[in-house]
Amino acid sequence: MKIMYKQDVVNKVPLKFERAYTNGAYNRLDIIRQLKDLPIPIDAEVVDSIIGNTSWTAFNCDNCNKDVNKLIYIADIFYDGYEGPNIRLCKECVTEANKLFSKED
Ligand SMILES: [Zn+2]
Repeated sequence: MKIMYKQDVVNKVPLKFERAYTNGAYNRLDIIRQLKDLPIPIDAEVVDSIIGNTSWTAFNCDNCNKDVNKLIYIADIFYDGYEGPNIRLCKECVTEANKLFSKED
């Protein structure tokens, strides 16, 4: 279990976008150049406007689907260290989960 931050994901968009779109028919050098010029911390709304959609900055809770700034990441870790099925939950949903536990105590 670990906490994840939307800002970390947004800061990595220029690198990930470049890896995804540098070759062949999907060359997007104009967008890559604009993304790489952005100051850190990178503003998610600016990234969305450059790319034209929110898919690269979306940071959604797997339970309520809200786009939030922080998520708890819980993964099934296999004996060999690889991660299996996982879930990302917002604070609101973890609080709701805790209320369910409290009802049991
Ligand atoms: Zn949630």
